[in-house]
Amino acid sequence: MKCPEDPEALCGQPIGQYHCPVCACMQVACTPHMCEPELCLLENCDCLPEGRTKSINLVETEHLEKIGQLERLLRHQAEQLEEVLRTNDQLQARLAESEAENDQWQKKLAEVWAEVASLRERAE
Ligand SMILES: [Zn+2]
Ligand SMILES: [Zn+2]
Ligand SMILES: [Zn+2]
Repeated sequence: MKCPEDPEALCGQPIGQYHCPVCACMQVACTPHMCEPELCLLENCDCLPEGRTKSINLVETEHLEKIGQLERLLRHQAEQLEEVLRTNDQLQARLAESEAENDQWQKKLAEVWAEVASLRERAE
């Protein structure tokens, strides 16, 4: 397969070098299409060495897709972790509330004990 892009058609236009919109190889306007086998993204392109149907770049792209999937998975797990942490935060908040209540009860208890002590003093 040959890349259908034709840089020679861009003669006279204010374009120097540009990336081919089809195969991504760097082209020079007004010259015949040239491929870089390491970069070419056109599947089964003539520029690729025999036996290879995809450029190294395209293989990399597939790796990147897999990495992207892994990233999505990790993000999903991170979201779940965040939810667990949020639940944990709520529990912590509730714990803090009950601790505050406990403090109030302790204070009341201290007041009662003070009253008891003063009653005892008066009784003596
Ligand atoms: Zn091309
Ligand atoms: Zn190319
Ligand atoms: Zn090519």
